[in-house]
Amino acid sequence: MINVTKTFFPPIEDYQKHLERIWDNQWLTNNGELYKELSQKLQDYLGANHIIPMTNGTLPIQIALNAYANQGEVITTPFSYVATTASIVWEKCTPVFVDIHPEYLTIDETKIEAAITDKTTAILATHVYGNPCAVEEIEAIAKKHNLKVIYDAAHCFRVTYKGQSIFNYGDVSTCSFHATKLFHTGEGGALFCQDKQIYHEMFYRHNFGHDGPEKYHGLGLNAKMSELQAAMGLSVLPYMQEIISERRRVCKYYDQHLDFSLLSKLQLREGTDWNYSYYPVIFKTETELLNIKTNLENNNINPRRYFFPSLEELPYIQSSNCQIAKDIGERVMCLPLYVDLKDADLYRIVDIINSNLK
Ligand SMILES: *Cc1c(COP(=O)(O)O)cnc(C)c1O
Repeated sequence: MINVTKTFFPPIEDYQKHLERIWDNQWLTNNGELYKELSQKLQDYLGANHIIPMTNGTLPIQIALNAYANQGEVITTPFSYVATTASIVWEKCTPVFVDIHPEYLTIDETKIEAAITDKTTAILATHVYGNPCAVEEIEAIAKKHNLKVIYDAAHCFRVTYKGQSIFNYGDVSTCSFHATKLFHTGEGGALFCQDKQIYHEMFYRHNFGHDGPEKYHGLGLNAKMSELQAAMGLSVLPYMQEIISERRRVCKYYDQHLDFSLLSKLQLREGTDWNYSYYPVIFKTETELLNIKTNLENNNINPRRYFFPSLEELPYIQSSNCQIAKDIGERVMCLPLYVDLKDADLYRIVDIINSNLK
């Protein structure tokens, strides 16, 4: 069976070596040795300003919204994973949907200002499939209207834009280290920010609001990453070069062999050093997508309709303004992409797709 992705498992000896350190320390969570080591290694590897590893990639979005969005209106798009919109609603804010750019698939920055009202407090935009939003234009809009910018950068591990980590843009960026993501800690994630003061604000929020054992800085919850998660991260991180070069090989194969006269692909924003995190293709019609999906499934190949449906169709959302997001969502599908995906399997996938395109 070939699925859209396959979790990377480091050699078990590597993981055991880190587990032994945990047993030696007799320390499982709360600022442990492995957690501290992983924080430092990730910060260096990514070239990020400040990082707080967390227990998943959704809590940092909620923490940032809790700190900045003040139960106001948050500008976002319906072309993302459900966690983006759900976090806004969970934090008692109101999502205001702005449509996406038809080629970059990120928020259309030219439509943001029309959506701003006096209740708007923040912009929460996703760097879709690791493709950066128009970060400079968004920063200018946010400055002009005094808004905070939070990026859902769940897909962006190791992405750089104009020579800098993409996590260094916006007031806060978040990433996911879930098992299906490029780099993982089983479950996990991180919050990134640009200065020490914001780092402290976010750090206490993720640890019950503690400022020392008997003092509280403010309201907080528990989003701490444990030593067991950090052990997985420390075991996976040394393999990133191999993981990325394998994924690059698969993407190159698709680039060279799919029939792009009848199919379109993601347009990367200029200045991006991408991470090969997903391989979305956009069909001419949903009917064609469904036909090809069935054909692939009949051969035990499982691509994924990602992102589908548009988040405007969630049961707790009332709007339906974003026609481009809806239209692309109905026609986009992510193809299998992971380390070890064999050339013979790639050949079959491409053959099934090309021979059913019209
Ligand atoms: C995976 C993902 C999340 C959620 O991350 P978790 O680590 O699973 O909580 C949020 N946003 C996007 C765009 C994602 O792809």
